Amino acid sequence: MRQREAPTELQTLYIDFDAFFANVEKQDNPALHGRPVGVQPFDSEHSGVIACCYQAKAAGIKRGTRTKECRELCPEITLLPARHDVYVDYHARIIKSIEKHLVVEKVWSIDEMECDLRGFTRQQAINIARRIQEDIAKDIGKYVTPSIGLASNQLLAKIASEMEKPNGFVVLHPRDMPGKLLDVPLEDIPGIAKGNLRRLDDAGIWTVEQLLAISNKQARALWGNIEGERLLTQLKGFSIIREPTTRRMFGHGRILTREWSYPDRAKECLRLLTCKAARRLRANGFYARKLSVSLSFTDGQRLGIERQFSPSRDDFRFVGEMSEAFTAMVKASRSKRIKRIAVTLHGLSKPQETSGDLFTWREDDAKSKAREKLSDIMDGINAKSGQALIHLGPREEPPGGYAGAKIAFGRVPTKEDFVKPTMKRKKKRLQSRA
Ligand SMILES: [Mg+2]
Repeated sequence: MRQREAPTELQTLYIDFDAFFANVEKQDNPALHGRPVGVQPFDSEHSGVIACCYQAKAAGIKRGTRTKECRELCPEITLLPARHDVYVDYHARIIKSIEKHLVVEKVWSIDEMECDLRGFTRQQAINIARRIQEDIAKDIGKYVTPSIGLASNQLLAKIASEMEKPNGFVVLHPRDMPGKLLDVPLEDIPGIAKGNLRRLDDAGIWTVEQLLAISNKQARALWGNIEGERLLTQLKGFSIIREPTTRRMFGHGRILTREWSYPDRAKECLRLLTCKAARRLRANGFYARKLSVSLSFTDGQRLGIERQFSPSRDDFRFVGEMSEAFTAMVKASRSKRIKRIAVTLHGLSKPQETSGDLFTWREDDAKSKAREKLSDIMDGINAKSGQALIHLGPREEPPGGYAGAKIAFGRVPTKEDFVKPTMKRKKKRLQSRA
């Protein structure tokens, strides 16, 4: 935390789209208008929804509800496999629409963005936000609804955007604080995880009002790190300036040639890409909590799995998670031949930013430490030699070099991630095939 300001005006506009994947599917297909829709990570009867529209929510379906239960709760529901390229396309169009009015300062996820309102009066800020909402309806369509929050900092604006979903519009002006904030349950505040909630409960803190009354020092003690103070500071209306985070993910993808399209070889290629991403993660001093694998099969089917784990930085963990995801998807797929693979490490943190849980975990887990050490040693040797001399498992250089696309969940790939390989690479592939 470097600097604090005490704002007297609105400073941040936060946009969070409602049931984004499901609503995009609805917008994209008129046959789904007025019907309950759920989106699954992939096309399988043994999965759960990662997004569902408000009609489906009204029937009791939530994120994570299993397919079978969805059908029981809402027999008329349409369940669709996620189409990430389509969501990224909508995302890009949304940014364009918003940027008719304000620059998008930060993209938090595929359906959450932040803009800077500094310099505007309260009324000007509200007018701009209203126009953004109207233009999204015009430019993107009435099914893709945003909920907008305005406040003096990012955290409060995000909380505001959550208050009246769907299609919400909430202003938490500094002069009305804490006001409506007092009605927010602690578990709905971003940054208060289950572990924090337990510690707050033990300390007899059950409401926002009680939380606002504690000191920064108490907040640090309750969280076990600076995050508690950061959260409290923002809840009180101050904005904090964080060190800029430039990297959001590390990932690699590949389009496979025919001879690499069979599961064994595709997995081998994916393993190399995973180790490569892990090496870059370590070189940048990060830990990752999530790994996503996506596969496109030759019959056009696309599958994706995201795995979550304790903050990690070693090849063993990542390759193990990748392997399980890969095997599950191949098992669930119709075709067994794979056209395209991608792996992404995300949910990044640096040691000083991670929650208290990380430290508990790290102290407990000597094996992880040993594996990290080994990964570091391999990196050192490979860096010195200028080539990948040492790595996990066998190695056969797959065709086409390492460059490629990144597809992931919970972060936003760029449009370019989905374009076909460049002419140069295509040519190379054709040559290698010939
Ligand atoms: Mg959302």
